[in-house]
Amino acid sequence: MSIRSNIEYVNELKAKAAEKSGRKPEDVLLVAVTKLHEADEMNEAIDAGVTDIGENKVQEILRKYDDVKPVRWHLIGHLQTNKVKSVIDKVCMIHSVDSLHLAKEINKRASQAGLVMDILIQVNIGDEESKFGVEYDDADALIQDIAETCPNVRVKGLMCVAPYEEDPENARPYFAKMKKLYDSYAEKGPDGNIDFQWLSMGMTNDFVQAVEEGSNMIRVGTAIFGARDYRSEEK
Ligand SMILES: *Cc1c(COP(=O)(O)O)cnc(C)c1O
Repeated sequence: MSIRSNIEYVNELKAKAAEKSGRKPEDVLLVAVTKLHEADEMNEAIDAGVTDIGENKVQEILRKYDDVKPVRWHLIGHLQTNKVKSVIDKVCMIHSVDSLHLAKEINKRASQAGLVMDILIQVNIGDEESKFGVEYDDADALIQDIAETCPNVRVKGLMCVAPYEEDPENARPYFAKMKKLYDSYAEKGPDGNIDFQWLSMGMTNDFVQAVEEGSNMIRVGTAIFGARDYRSEEK
């Protein structure tokens, strides 16, 4: 299967799931996740209509940045504070903010670069020890703290990685819980630098269920580019 036909297939499933939940296909954004894939594959995806790509590591963004056609870059993986500086002018959104400490560093670097950075709050929805993200019950406090102390950061919504379920139907309760928290802000409308527009959830294994439960941004890698070769991570 070609990258182009894989994208068409993902878009088809995304459209059906969007319609099933009362929305239009274009109301749900596809972020193509390109970690461990090279610039030529990324450009193929961009030629096939991809407008947004997601990377989980700063080093990979820096390594590939100059070889990739114009596109919106999203940082979707865990971010160390000492790496914020090098991506602040390269990404349009940081999906993985889970502490005030990190938000403050993003705020500082954004201010120095003369920009406002869009961020999502990553929630550890399955309460898994192995996963990053703020605990669900602590998300409100974190959002308020960021709103009060980080004028160069805009909180645009929430992100989660649901626990892996062999049967993705079992992930629905996690997505529904995320949607509830998301709606509590989205329904209020913009308030200072809190302006909820994005609920980033759903990956290859579970994006249909995520969209049906209300996601409007899916992060899909394997279904588009095939399995990743983690042995090549050293290069
Ligand atoms: C790798 C990754 C994805 C995409 O995963 P696939 O299963 O390949 O679709 C999505 N989100 C995050 C945070 C990732 O690290």
